[in-house]
Amino acid sequence: MNAHSTVPFVDLSIQWNQIRSSVLPDMERLFEASAFCLGPWAKDFEQRIAEYLGVRHAVAVSSGSAALHVAVIAAGIVPGDKVLVPTHTFIGTVWGLIYAGAIPVFCDVEPGAGTIDVRDAESKLDEKVKAIIPVHLYGQPADMAAVLDFARRHKLLVIEDVAQAIGARYDGQSLGSLGDFGCFSFYPGKNLGAAGEGGLVVTNDDRSADAMRALRDHGQAQRYVHQMIGYNYRMDGIQALVLGHKLAHLDDWTNQRRQIALRYAEGLAGLPLTLPEIVHGDHVFHLYVVRTQQRDALKGYLEGHGVQTGLHYPIPLHKQPCFADMATAQGRFPVAEEYAGTVLSLPVFAGLTPDQQDRVIDAVRSFFERGDENGR
Ligand SMILES: *Cc1c(COP(=O)(O)O)cnc(C)c1O
Repeated sequence: MNAHSTVPFVDLSIQWNQIRSSVLPDMERLFEASAFCLGPWAKDFEQRIAEYLGVRHAVAVSSGSAALHVAVIAAGIVPGDKVLVPTHTFIGTVWGLIYAGAIPVFCDVEPGAGTIDVRDAESKLDEKVKAIIPVHLYGQPADMAAVLDFARRHKLLVIEDVAQAIGARYDGQSLGSLGDFGCFSFYPGKNLGAAGEGGLVVTNDDRSADAMRALRDHGQAQRYVHQMIGYNYRMDGIQALVLGHKLAHLDDWTNQRRQIALRYAEGLAGLPLTLPEIVHGDHVFHLYVVRTQQRDALKGYLEGHGVQTGLHYPIPLHKQPCFADMATAQGRFPVAEEYAGTVLSLPVFAGLTPDQQDRVIDAVRSFFERGDENGR
């Protein structure tokens, strides 16, 4: 082991080495067929991922944000409608509804899982609210029993943001298949990552699927007949090809993430540090997020000791400058603010070696075991 090399936050070259011998010849076929925009590779990927997730329809698009945008439109959300969203999430969760002219109603999150607090959502309900977007944050399901029950009682549509939780299950079903729509991102660092941008919407509703297929392709179901205002949100053929090859490895890579999380849980036990809890049944550990009041000092210490870390996310949505004038950003969000000030993401990815895991654990332990030096 090289004690001086940095432990990276993520290393995607490990995945590439596992797929390159099958991807390269397939890529030649794709170039020879000039199947660059959607095309047969995208169709094949859609079929395989629909089967993997247990849904009727999978619609491949150009990003997770595009997926959320076409889902919001297909859900019938129109300008002035409101959509309930957690304030502690990546901003990509809300762009789609904002592009559609809807208003995000920010909600606090649960103290254990960091996912949407349905009681807070319920307190913010009015007749303009049409949908709720639970975010399966860090790879852990939101409280879907509560979300689905709440949505049924108030006739709200459920659009799941599964960008961080592909492959996670809730009550025996894949996330993304429980609500009316499930939206995925294949940004390279996600658990299933493209060689560039990519996204997917899944649904069991035939009409919504047809609408989303048209929306992503200039609003046409038939060439040059534009039934609706559309977008260019097509997935690249190359991305579909890469994703198809990676899908075969996803469960193995997810298991590796879970093993690393188990090892961290053992190695970091007993420290004044809040470790991730599996609150709602499953977790695919897109991120391994610990919490401490000494977050900034710990981050600096780890970086000085060769361990890269991340912050997911340091500013909740209701505090983002772009929403400063929004009335729904003015409430109290104590749990989300606590998260923003204390979260720190440690390296977790398929291929992170036991030596590297030990270096992460040792560095965190030594930070807390230095005594008074750490400025407590
Ligand atoms: C990555 C991500 C998105 C957006 O995906 P893009 O592909 O970057 O557009 C949306 N929501 C969450 C929670 C994400 O992590």
